[in-house]
Amino acid sequence: MESNVPAAAVVPEFDSPASISVVVNKDRPLDAGYVPPDLIDAGGVLLRAEAGHAYLRMSAGAAEASAAITAVSGFRPANMQADLHSSYTDSYGGPAAEALSARPGHSEHQTGLAVDIANPDGACSLQSCFDGTPAGSWAAGNGHRYGFVVRYPAGAEAITGYSYEPWHLRYVGEEMARQMFDAGITLEEFADLPAAPGY
Ligand SMILES: [Zn+2]
Repeated sequence: MESNVPAAAVVPEFDSPASISVVVNKDRPLDAGYVPPDLIDAGGVLLRAEAGHAYLRMSAGAAEASAAITAVSGFRPANMQADLHSSYTDSYGGPAAEALSARPGHSEHQTGLAVDIANPDGACSLQSCFDGTPAGSWAAGNGHRYGFVVRYPAGAEAITGYSYEPWHLRYVGEEMARQMFDAGITLEEFADLPAAPGY
């Protein structure tokens, strides 16, 4: 017998690091020592279990569509992010580095819910032209079916605080990913949070 009581709507939780919809940006750091409790190996990188299983399904779907993807970066602890950020600062100078890499504690990679992907042949790896490659084009159009969104879209730098990164996918779950994809909005907009600061 059908119930007339609607299923409880899933209300996304944006503040808790344990939530798959947590928002981490230039305004919203994680504790430096935070490590997700349920990391698994997903295609050679570490992701939280739910995101990792979704990544493996997405990777299989991409391969079936002749757009194979590989994972090049998943979970990164804050100390590794500190090294990365200072190497960007050394190479590009402060302002450019801030648009290209997060300060320690502010990287989504520390959540275990973000994965950087590439083509197996490395075409346009970590470059904006990745969106024109098989892996980049497929992921932009299909990632949401597996719960992933392009976290730093083109033209959204003033909102996200970061340059366009077509290779950086963020797991938010299928329902929320579909809503974000259909609306064409960033995580900050979905969560009704202020735009990231422009430091
Ligand atoms: Zn990334």
